[in-house]
Amino acid sequence: MKFDTKLLHGGISEDPTTGAVSMPIYRASTFHQKELGHPEWEYSRTGNPTRQALEDLMADLEVGTAGFAFSSGSAAIHAVLSLFSAGDHIIVGNDIYGGTFRLINQVMKRFGLEFSTVDTTDLEAVQAAFQDNTKALYLETPTNPLLRVSDLAALSKIAKQHGAYTIVDNTFATPYNQQPLTLGADIVVASGTKYLGGHSDLIAGIAVTNDDQLAERIGFLQNSIGSVLAPEEAWLLQRGIKTLGARMRIHEENTQAIFQFLSQDDHISKLYYPGDPNNPGYATAKRQMRGFGAMLSFELKPEYEPKQFIDHLNLITLAESLGGVDSLIEVPTIMTHGAIPREERIKDGIQDNLIRLSVGIEDQADLIEDLQTALHSLDH
Ligand SMILES: *Cc1c(COP(=O)(O)O)cnc(C)c1O
Repeated sequence: MKFDTKLLHGGISEDPTTGAVSMPIYRASTFHQKELGHPEWEYSRTGNPTRQALEDLMADLEVGTAGFAFSSGSAAIHAVLSLFSAGDHIIVGNDIYGGTFRLINQVMKRFGLEFSTVDTTDLEAVQAAFQDNTKALYLETPTNPLLRVSDLAALSKIAKQHGAYTIVDNTFATPYNQQPLTLGADIVVASGTKYLGGHSDLIAGIAVTNDDQLAERIGFLQNSIGSVLAPEEAWLLQRGIKTLGARMRIHEENTQAIFQFLSQDDHISKLYYPGDPNNPGYATAKRQMRGFGAMLSFELKPEYEPKQFIDHLNLITLAESLGGVDSLIEVPTIMTHGAIPREERIKDGIQDNLIRLSVGIEDQADLIEDLQTALHSLDH
């Protein structure tokens, strides 16, 4: 089955008991056990038919064998990091989601997990970061907000040589564009809040693996920690996923057009987009991704103020988050990445005048006109 068909017919796509073409929302917390023993459904934290439909679908889409749905992307990452114990070392990409950075530094470290960060676009640096107690390599590609691309096949191979798992946050690419498990990764995590849900109307998280032993352990942690996705949210996320392919094609067409437009505008000094042939990650992105995604960041020339630009947008919405059908724009240093000390931010390449755009599925001409108006306002 091709990916776009899987979006609709993968996993459990209809109710096995009634044939309802949309999986019903099973709100029950517990299930009548017809005889003493261990039936398929016992208690909804452990397993719920609506959640299971989503979990099986995600396992199919990520080409894994088991999927797990959580109350948020952060909850999924927390459960997966809970696979490790005090004294274990995890290598983390240096350009990861701010909430994951916080979870690692302010929560997991208190439980004795050790972390070190590395630029995962630099294979030699990754190779050198392994220690005797390294149990996993954790990374994102493309990253946020600079859209850096790391070579998943090469990184998974290095991790495997050291007996460590590779864990990939696939939120930005989604399985439409990239399937890390097919490139050697062991676990994929994602925020369902972004492209998977796609409409900025839910919070959810996903973990998928293709390793039976890991699946059993993640299932155990999901049930033990208990941060499971509610049936309503599971249903809504599955509904959103049905149009992932259709949405991504428009998202990406719009992004290509906006990239072309911005690359010719002389208010802009720098563009970050994996689909830019001059981007250092372009060749890797072309090899491991189906499309280049719909995130794009840019820097205005130093004489221009991001605030003035943003104030003159009429259509594109100033907001955190990304991946929804509506275009969203933000200034990372003030918004999503404000918690990172300025010096560290600058060292990582996140300048004060950096603007991040999550391109939606509005008409391309309207989006470009909006950007053009705001860019022209800088001349006055
Ligand atoms: C949003 C996001 C998360 C966290 O997901 P929540 O659903 O907000 O908890 C994790 N990783 C990435 C890359 C994200 O963009």
